Formats: sequence, C-alpha cells, structure tokens
Amino acid sequence: MGGSTNLEAANTHLQAWACSYSRSSLARSLEGKLDFLDGLIIPQTCDTMRMLLDLWQQIRPLPYMENFRLPRQVDRSSARKYLLGELERIKKGLEEFRGSPIEAESLHQSINLYNHNRQLLRKIAYLHAHRPDLISSRQLYTVINGTMIMAREKVNRLLQSLTEDLEQSLETSGNGSRIRLLMSGTLLEPFEVLDFIEEFGGTVVADDFQNGFRYIEADVEPGRDPLEALAERQLNRIPSAAFDLEKRPRRIFLTELARAKEARGAILLHHTFCEPENFDGYDNLRALQKEGLQAMRIETQFGGAGLGQIRTRVHAFMEMVGGVIR
Ligand code: SF4
Repeated sequence: MGGSTNLEAANTHLQAWACSYSRSSLARSLEGKLDFLDGLIIPQTCDTMRMLLDLWQQIRPLPYMENFRLPRQVDRSSARKYLLGELERIKKGLEEFRGSPIEAESLHQSINLYNHNRQLLRKIAYLHAHRPDLISSRQLYTVINGTMIMAREKVNRLLQSLTEDLEQSLETSGNGSRIRLLMSGTLLEPFEVLDFIEEFGGTVVADDFQNGFRYIEADVEPGRDPLEALAERQLNRIPSAAFDLEKRPRRIFLTELARAKEARGAILLHHTFCEPENFDGYDNLRALQKEGLQAMRIETQFGGAGLGQIRTRVHAFMEMVGGVIR
C-alpha cells in the first residue's frame, strides 16, 4: 500500500529516481512494518516493479515471494492465453507453499465474496456522488482503502450497515450541491488533497486510481471456470497508465467518464518519477481540456508531498471552476 515513511531507508537500495510508491513500500519493509506478512506478490506494472522483487528477496525475504507477470498489450489475442497460464503458475506456487491444493469451490466462494465487496463499495460511491454531504470524498476513499487490508467477511458486514445508514439518510434534506470533479492518476496520495477539494466547495465523483474506482469497477463472472473468469476481468478492466487499451485509450475513457459523471473539472495527480504516467499524462490533460473541462496536473509523492503548495493550487483551481470560497 505504500504510505508515509522515511524514504531515506530505501535510498540505499533503490535509485532516488524510482517512484516514491516503490521506495516507501520497500522502506516500510526495511523498518520491519511488513514483517507480519506471509508473502508478497508483486504485479509487474513498470520497470521499477520488474526489479523490485529481486531486490526485496535479497534484503528482506518473506516466506513466499512471487512476481505476477501481467500482459501489457491486453488487446492482443494471445493475452488471454498468456494470462491464464500466469494465473495457473501462481496458483500452483501457492499450493506448493501452503502444502495443499486450492479447490475450485474455494475460488468460487472467494470470487462471490469479493464481488459482493465491490458491489457494496460501488453503491457507497454512487451515494457519495449524489449526496456528498452524507459521505465526503475523504471518507469514501478511506473506506475503499480500508477494505483493501481488512478481512472481506468482516468488512462486508460493516459496508452493508454503512449502506443502509446512508440510504436511510437520503430521506433527510441536505445540501448535495458541490462542484463535481474527476480525478485521475496511478494512486490517490496524499489523501489531504481530498480535504482541500472539499474545503473549497468541490467533491470527487469519478476517478481511475488503482486505490479508487479501478479497484471496485468490475466484477468476476461467477459460475464459470474461476481462473478464466479472473483473467477475463483483468483484461477488461478500465485502462490505466500501465495497461492502456488500443481500442479504448485512456484519454477517451477519461473524457467519456467526465461527461457521464457531469464533472466540471479534472485534477490529475502525477507521482514524481512514475514512468507509465509520464507517457500519457499530457495526452490525458489535453484531451480533457479539449472536452471543455478545466484540468490541471499536480505532482505528488508518498512520504512528504508539499501539502501547503498543493492546497494553494487546489484553491486556485477551485476558483477557476466556480467553487465556493470559505
Ligand atoms: S506504475 Fe508508477 S507508481 Fe506504480 S510502481 Fe510503477 S512507477 Fe511507481
């Protein structure tokens, strides 16, 4: 998950121009904050991730460590076969590690559990977009990120209860009118940016963050071969910097999303030294601006973004899109 930490600890092992997400993850491990883990699977999203596992294995090994080699050209017909083979390889490795087979029935149950989890989160995101006074942007994304590290059985009960409370509150009168914004980027960080947006009259109604809408937007089809269904979901997810679709490029997806959600402006968070985001960040910005949206790009990083500077920029941006000044 990355997180606030002293990035210096990782600098001994990773170049200072590796992104702060990878450096903060490694730094947290070096500080012993991840010793509770039994294992770690690193998806290969970029060059940094490609070398991180080898490095991590050398300096802070965990009992089980593996790469997840995702296909990058997801439009190609060979991608499905390749991904299925990769999922089978990981399943076999996990079975060897735990010393027993993973039954199809367990996978079906897990798929249903995670689908239910995403459905509840999507409902809460929908309620937030309609009544941001009932649940703020900061609260919504905190809930999404919290569920990523909690047991899904427990968190689903909590989400169910939260959903019911929110639905009941819909009957009360409130002021849901705020400036609707789209956010885009690899990862939502720092969360304080959400406070600044709300402080100046905005709310986030759409995004494509890995720890945001991209995490909850698609389900795994139940009832079919579990690995095939998992591969299918992965290949049909919304585009991101590391996995762009030729048939539906990310810039087109973002402009359609902004239109569908009636966003008035867009804030693109760019992690310093995130190479995949560097490749298409400018195209995305231009495409949103051509669509008539006010759009700006902010550079951020884990473990010490300049919050004062970000607040000033958000303040100026919210003035341009007609936000309510305190
Ligand atoms: S995709 Fe970007 S943020 Fe993610 S690990 Fe690679 S460089 Fe870092």
